[in-house]
Amino acid sequence: MTPTLANIKTWYNEFNKQVFNNELPTIPIKITNNRSQLGQFYWGNGRGIGMKVSTYYDMPVDMFRNTILHEMCHLYCYNKGFIREHHGKNWKAIAAYATRKTGLDITRCADISGIKPAEKNVEKQKAVEAKKTAPAIIIDLEYSDHHFIIKTTKNVLRSSDTTDMDFNLRTNAKNWSVYICDGNVFKGYQSSRSIRRGYRYENKEFEVTMKPKLENGIKVDNIRDILIGSYDCLGVR
Ligand SMILES: [Zn+2]
Repeated sequence: MTPTLANIKTWYNEFNKQVFNNELPTIPIKITNNRSQLGQFYWGNGRGIGMKVSTYYDMPVDMFRNTILHEMCHLYCYNKGFIREHHGKNWKAIAAYATRKTGLDITRCADISGIKPAEKNVEKQKAVEAKKTAPAIIIDLEYSDHHFIIKTTKNVLRSSDTTDMDFNLRTNAKNWSVYICDGNVFKGYQSSRSIRRGYRYENKEFEVTMKPKLENGIKVDNIRDILIGSYDCLGVR
């Protein structure tokens, strides 16, 4: 489910009564779309205090309620002067009390295994996942004294990424090959955002550092293969 701000405020008031004897003040509450932080109680830095609740994921209602109660325990500690302890003994004590009072299990961290993003974020999440496993394309242009490497971790190269210069580089090269590899193969290598940008390797450097890595990749004999294959947007002539 995806709660509204009204839902969140209702739960806040409910918990304030049930757990905190209505001692907690009304604070600003904002809905965010944060993927890595389900909730946040902020204070200091001249921002005042407030709470943020992420509706990035489509979670069961109790996971949202749990998040809110978790943050309310921080607010309670803030009011008592224990905020700097974060999840220290005072937070743990009030969280345990809140758990007893509500039956919700207030933990330090939420377990989101098996939780899917909300409908509004499905496409976004797909892009994140794709990025993790994006293949890298590497074009190795071999000249007599060096290799010119063009690599990208983009799934698709736009035609605007190519230029006549690229074409000439390729046709004048003694030899050239295209590889598709797991993006991880190139972790730590100088990145190139478009096909125009490459990285020049001397022969020796190529043999030592690039070739062993490329062996894990799938070699594509020529660029046409990529055009015909799943990279039909690859604007390479
Ligand atoms: Zn916390």
